[in-house]
Amino acid sequence: MEKNDLDQVVSVLANSRNTIVVTGAGISTEAGIPDFRGPDGIYRKLGENQVMNIININAFNRNPEEFYAFYRQHFVFPPAVPGKAHQVLADMEKKGRVKGIVTQNIDSLHEKAGSRKVIAIHGTADRYICRNRGCQVVYGDEYVKSYEDIVPRCKKCGSVLKPDVVLFGENIKNYVEARDMILGAQVLIVIGSSLTVYPLAGFVKEFSTFYQDLIIINKGRTQLDHAALLKIDGGHTGDTLEEINRQMDLRGK
Ligand code: NAD
Ligand code: ZN
Repeated sequence: MEKNDLDQVVSVLANSRNTIVVTGAGISTEAGIPDFRGPDGIYRKLGENQVMNIININAFNRNPEEFYAFYRQHFVFPPAVPGKAHQVLADMEKKGRVKGIVTQNIDSLHEKAGSRKVIAIHGTADRYICRNRGCQVVYGDEYVKSYEDIVPRCKKCGSVLKPDVVLFGENIKNYVEARDMILGAQVLIVIGSSLTVYPLAGFVKEFSTFYQDLIIINKGRTQLDHAALLKIDGGHTGDTLEEINRQMDLRGK
């Protein structure tokens, strides 16, 4: 990162009373979880349509066997621990520099790093919920990983379990809270998102029409590069955030 860019980010953050962070799959690639749209992502390998047709609430209801065969192969992430970027954001929250995170990720790494105010609009991959409305028992991913059949079922009632993640065709979680948090920000930092997935991309777009302090840290283009006060593209995202945080320590902000 250019020194001028770093100074500018630090100044903007130092003057902000309410900095909110939006994160996408790109913040977790350095922790070993591949993104979908990056060069090795499954959208490149399989095509976006195939993924959307299977990771879809109608496909889940119609054919859970087919859904789970695909889901288990591509969506059950290897065990991962938070990367440097997650850790720095948690530290920035403790120091009052970040007030909250809205994430598209389903890997729970922000929470594991110690961030407290996290809105996970696409849910959580390590939770599964019984589909029977009268039952709704919650299971951890160990139960599903070690289940003897491809389609995991509830111990109590025998119904199919659904991953607690938002599938295509479903509404995001905490829509109102996420939008309010983003539009209420003084400074918004987007990290590791191409800003193509709606409605989150729409919230960021709305923010950028009314306010100007949008900072984007992303490898590759995003849909809102033109609206950003500053775009940081390239480098190691964890190191970039660490340096920003360190400069703020030095300034006592
Ligand atoms: P996306 O559209 O937000 O794209 C990810 C972006 O991050 C890409 O532009 C990529 O170039 C960039 N990126 C990759 N590595 C980076 C790095 N080290 N630093 C900065 N930027 C980097 O997300 P997607 O991959 O298209 O995924 C779509 C949806 O699927 C997500 O919103 C999420 O719900 C789900 N998903 C979640 C995870 C996860 O929880 N870790 C992983 C894959 C997909
Ligand atoms: Zn049940």
